[in-house]
Amino acid sequence: MSEASIIDGKALAMRLRVRVAAEVAKLRDDHGLTPALTVVLVGEDPASQVYIRNKGKQTEEAGMVSDTIRLGADTPEEDLLALIEKLNSDAAVNGILVQLPLPDRIDEAKVIAAIDPEKDVDGFHVVNVGRLWTGAAAPVPCTPAGCLQMLKETLGELKGKRALVLGRSNIVGKPMAALLLAEHCTVTIAHSRTEDLAERCREADILVAAVGRAQMVRGDWIKPGATVIDVGINRVEAPEKGTNDDGTPKTRLVGDVNFEEAKKVAGHITPVPGGVGPMTIANLLRNTVIAACRQNGLPAPEI
Ligand code: NAP
Repeated sequence: MSEASIIDGKALAMRLRVRVAAEVAKLRDDHGLTPALTVVLVGEDPASQVYIRNKGKQTEEAGMVSDTIRLGADTPEEDLLALIEKLNSDAAVNGILVQLPLPDRIDEAKVIAAIDPEKDVDGFHVVNVGRLWTGAAAPVPCTPAGCLQMLKETLGELKGKRALVLGRSNIVGKPMAALLLAEHCTVTIAHSRTEDLAERCREADILVAAVGRAQMVRGDWIKPGATVIDVGINRVEAPEKGTNDDGTPKTRLVGDVNFEEAKKVAGHITPVPGGVGPMTIANLLRNTVIAACRQNGLPAPEI
């Protein structure tokens, strides 16, 4: 059997960003409107710093206004809530994203609930979760939105396919399941208490892995010819790359799927890095443009 074709998330994301930029230019020319995204970072989490730098850069490259507000790790919850309130009532801000994870002492659910659902470009607010599951228009969480776009681009029609989503987080697994259900897939959601996990995975035409466990999904868990979307981002030691100046081994990123094994069985597969990751930010830009249109009484563009 031939090897799986690689789903090029980087190229797809680039095309999406080009479409977003074209829409931004049109909004500016036709309506004098420039969509604006404000990202709030609490603390100094190194991974979050990298994410928000990339978000800011790509927002500006698409022609939008990007603002990043950095708060100290010891910022009281009330101060963060007050800032969100201020951003909610600022008509110049179309999208608000509070970078997760937040420091432990801050109640994440309370913070997400404080964001105006119309400005919630992450799609995490319960109002938007409800809209997603009931089929109403809503900002869709960026990572699962990107996964669905890759699946449709690769397979076209998804109707009737058996899909298994491995992971049930609010930010990936659950919204992914909602999106696949809306595409008329038969959806199974698996998690840490699922019995016969490998067997359940082997039944799936579409397997989306969002577990956060390096290379957990083995080649023999995959149905021959299945489409595999690997959401996982896990840093593992890579002694083959040598050592850092302090003697610690260098590292590399791997997904939740054992790529080398899986590509021998799957029909299509996303790589890590270069698969789901780039699609996430591109969808954040897309959500921001759509939010700006809605807030200004304009029809949501097809991007
Ligand atoms: P999460 O909140 O930690 O959720 C992980 C899920 O996996 C949970 O539902 C958990 O089950 C399940 N799980 C854990 N161990 C398992 C096991 N041994 N067998 C079966 N299920 C197991 O993670 P997340 O936020 O959804 O993220 C998942 C991965 O995606 C992470 O690697 C993260 O870095 C990555 N990610 C990537 C992007 C991107 O842009 N590419 C965006 C977001 C996340 P229980 O519910 O039963 O505990």
